[in-house]
Amino acid sequence: MKNTDINICQSCGKPIRSMSDFGTYADGSANTDYCFDCYQDGLFTDPHITLEEKMARNIAIAQRLGMSRSKAHQMAKSKLRRFARWHKPRKKVSAIKNK
Ligand SMILES: [Zn+2]
Repeated sequence: MKNTDINICQSCGKPIRSMSDFGTYADGSANTDYCFDCYQDGLFTDPHITLEEKMARNIAIAQRLGMSRSKAHQMAKSKLRRFARWHKPRKKVSAIKNK
């Protein structure tokens, strides 16, 4: 780990700065891989979203923040692909809560 100050959500790329921003497992403990917007109570809030849809969503947000479409697209593409959530799309996330 190079950057211990800021956790990045492995789904949407949002920086997570406080414990309350972390996602939660079914037992209420923090899932430090994901933010609260993406993961709650052991499940993704948008379990059926595809990488492409997630990218489109991030691009829309970045554009709203003033980024050009091409730059937003490039950033979303290079960033999201690296995240753990999108490496194994077939993995059943719900299985984690039985741990
Ligand atoms: Zn997120």
